Amino acid sequence: MSEANKNAAVNDYIIRMINLNKWYGDFHVLKDINLDVKQGERIVICGPSGSGKSTLIRCINHLEEHQKGQIVIEGEELTGDIKHLEKVRTNVGMCFQHFNLFPHLTIMDNLTLAPIWVRKTPKAEAEATAMKYLERVKIPDQADKFPGQLSGGQQQRVAIARSLCMNPKVMLFDEPTSALDPEMISEVLDVMVELAEEGGMTMLCVTHEMGFAKQVADRVIFMDAGQIIEENTPDEFFNNPQSERTQLFLSQII
Ligand code: ADP
Ligand code: MG
Repeated sequence: MSEANKNAAVNDYIIRMINLNKWYGDFHVLKDINLDVKQGERIVICGPSGSGKSTLIRCINHLEEHQKGQIVIEGEELTGDIKHLEKVRTNVGMCFQHFNLFPHLTIMDNLTLAPIWVRKTPKAEAEATAMKYLERVKIPDQADKFPGQLSGGQQQRVAIARSLCMNPKVMLFDEPTSALDPEMISEVLDVMVELAEEGGMTMLCVTHEMGFAKQVADRVIFMDAGQIIEENTPDEFFNNPQSERTQLFLSQII
């Protein structure tokens, strides 16, 4: 491959993890993770509890620090350099299991806080954007309420809208539906499916919602004990799992 072609191939990836290793003290939590994510790709990460899924995606925006190997975001290695980190954190949105909304702020203020204070967006513009995304997640009528007045499903949709207000290139989801009552799961998944089907957004979703994986994932990754054990298209992954560990995992959740 020519040097130019090699660079083009590298630039194709919005996120690269190269021999990524992380320890918590003596505990080796991520072991030689290699994962290249293309711009616009939708990836589902699954695996047993404790396998390192949250740690892996938290490393991407440096909420956790890795000790060995590389994470490269848009061609630039993540080193903890504060300037790069600021750029990464505004380009990479994250939704957690617990929504982490500010309880003392209205929904509107939750959505406009970062755009106004971090991005220096004028208030009126930030509010117009916030309303656009509240409409997209189908709760424009909740703008003046406080998080505690909303259901869990509504709060999680607010959390998604809040991330989208920063116009991220990548969205990370860490089990966004696992703390919700069953009847609220689909209203959050519907929003995620819409986002995925619009295209353009790179998405990494830790979830055990296999219906979601089948519907929108380009690739499913299975982790166990800090390693990527298997990765494949949803079709192959679910119908023809290769490793025994994947087979066992699937037999327990499906
Ligand atoms: P998963 O999201 O797949 O359930 P995690 O990434 O949360 O897994 O955790 C992987 C392993 O690392 C678990 O054994 C967990 O107990 C451990 N772990 C997670 N966070 C910490 C931490 N801050 N300090 C020490 N150990 C941790
Ligand atoms: Mg987790």
